[in-house]
Amino acid sequence: MRQKMAAGNWKMNGTGAALAELETLIQAQHAAKSELLICPPATLLSRAAEIAADSSLAIGGQDCHAASSGAHTGDLSSEMLKDAGATAVILGHSERRADHNETSKTVAAKTKSAWSAGLTAIVCLGETLAEREAGDTLKVVGSQLAASLPDGATGQNTVIAYEPVWAIGTGKVPSLDQIAEVHDFLRHALTTRFGAEMAAATRLLYGGSVKPGNAAEIFATSNVDGALVGGASLKSADFSPIIAALDAS
Ligand code: PEP
Repeated sequence: MRQKMAAGNWKMNGTGAALAELETLIQAQHAAKSELLICPPATLLSRAAEIAADSSLAIGGQDCHAASSGAHTGDLSSEMLKDAGATAVILGHSERRADHNETSKTVAAKTKSAWSAGLTAIVCLGETLAEREAGDTLKVVGSQLAASLPDGATGQNTVIAYEPVWAIGTGKVPSLDQIAEVHDFLRHALTTRFGAEMAAATRLLYGGSVKPGNAAEIFATSNVDGALVGGASLKSADFSPIIAALDAS
């Protein structure tokens, strides 16, 4: 009942020239079964949305402010993302939690704002290496999940991305057993708080050094409904085989 999802996070990469990759991706993946999303830098949102109009590729933001407008120099509201053509927004990415001191409480406020603008919130969580080595992974992701998700989360307005901090951009990937343990735990935690129907409808993405070479085995892992992909989403030649592996899973 859950449509698989491949989401690309371009982070702070790409100027106008990078939009050619979107055109290539749209052509290569016009028959993809999975839901496809690219989150470019905010400067490219409108142009990306125009290119992706009438295709099955959706465009998303990488962050939004919790307020709808006001004196917040440099920030963007969820309404602005929506107005620029976004249908989703990544929230609570570990780079924002680390670089901008975002707490799960902040992420929850941003999530509410995203919902009110009609955006799907892709809420990120994940443990640091020190937390994993201390045996605290489930405790950490459990408390991040509880505090980052407001009441009212549904399988339509929310996607969860489990991204171990130590696996992002490092080429290191947890074992498949470790990914399954966290994803099974997250599904169970959603069931306990929101009920079986919501938990069954909510996509759980894995993120952290997903590449064409490891995608198939990750997508075959328990309770993995897709991926949030950083580096390998920048080039259609890398992202396309990941999407193909997801379609085949
Ligand atoms: C990310 O930034 O969300 C991510 C998963 O990055 P990478 O795929 O490059 O590890």
